[in-house]
Amino acid sequence: MAGNSEVMTIGVDLGGTKVETALVDAAGRILVSRRQPTNPEKGPDAVVANIVADIKTCQVEAGKTAEGIGVGVAGQLDRTGTLRFSPNLGWRNVSLKRKLEDALDIPVVINNDVRAATWGEWRHGAGQGVDDMVCLFIGTGIGGGVISGGQLLSGCSNTAGELGHMTIVAGGRRCHCPNRGCLEAYAGGWAIAERAQEAVNTNPQAAQRLVALAGDIQQISAATVTQACSEGDSLACCLVEETAQYLAAGVVGIINTFNPCLLVLGGGVIQGRPEYVSEVERIVRENALPTAVADLRIVRAALGDKAGVIGAAALVRDRMEKAM
Ligand SMILES: [Zn+2]
Repeated sequence: MAGNSEVMTIGVDLGGTKVETALVDAAGRILVSRRQPTNPEKGPDAVVANIVADIKTCQVEAGKTAEGIGVGVAGQLDRTGTLRFSPNLGWRNVSLKRKLEDALDIPVVINNDVRAATWGEWRHGAGQGVDDMVCLFIGTGIGGGVISGGQLLSGCSNTAGELGHMTIVAGGRRCHCPNRGCLEAYAGGWAIAERAQEAVNTNPQAAQRLVALAGDIQQISAATVTQACSEGDSLACCLVEETAQYLAAGVVGIINTFNPCLLVLGGGVIQGRPEYVSEVERIVRENALPTAVADLRIVRAALGDKAGVIGAAALVRDRMEKAM
């Protein structure tokens, strides 16, 4: 099937709240897609049955048959395609690959959802034609993927690319992982909300706009902070400026470590406030090693929330073509 543009593959983006399934062609175009709530509490077999039903519906609607399935799942996988643990889904030791192969009898490739999105940006998005690229997705949490010398780094136990959990402040804020002071614990969406709520409690006089926008303190989110700052609220703008500094601290480490030609920034926090890209870039150019930034470009992700399905479909396609 090498180079056969008529061959279709399926991409599945399996997250804790929703699962998206898409039939994708060789150019990374989505022909048909379906999205539904995941309902992970019903168990893996029920969720897999829903995915299988969506795959069949996509094929019928497009009038085409897929020859492989790629899945990006929010969690840690081993090299056999077994999902070891997913905090978002609440599952442990689920053999997702085998369940899907048993149901559909075509090749299945499973990877972490953020790495699948990285693959999508690399093959069909902002990183096309680049051999050294890092994607950093800043959403509720922070995840990433590293392409080095045209290869996706996987690491010793398949967890490479957890860029959100690099320490930027020793002994700093408590993270959702065992560590303190992670990049995610400062600049992830959940952490921006937490920092904002703390600032409101410390300085209620200056926080009236944030509280009014959100309804009450507990409802203040990263999006509230972005909106209040765009209206010129000084406390919100202070939080935004600090967030840019934290992000840049992480990115300086990434650039000095991996020396990519291209850094792609994506995820809901960046989509909500694209100005972060130029602000981070300015700080990074001042602080990273001059040789590391000499040929560096920093850009926004191109595929938005479709990077996961497009990347998962490309992962299985590339695996199948390599096997030919
Ligand atoms: Zn962490």
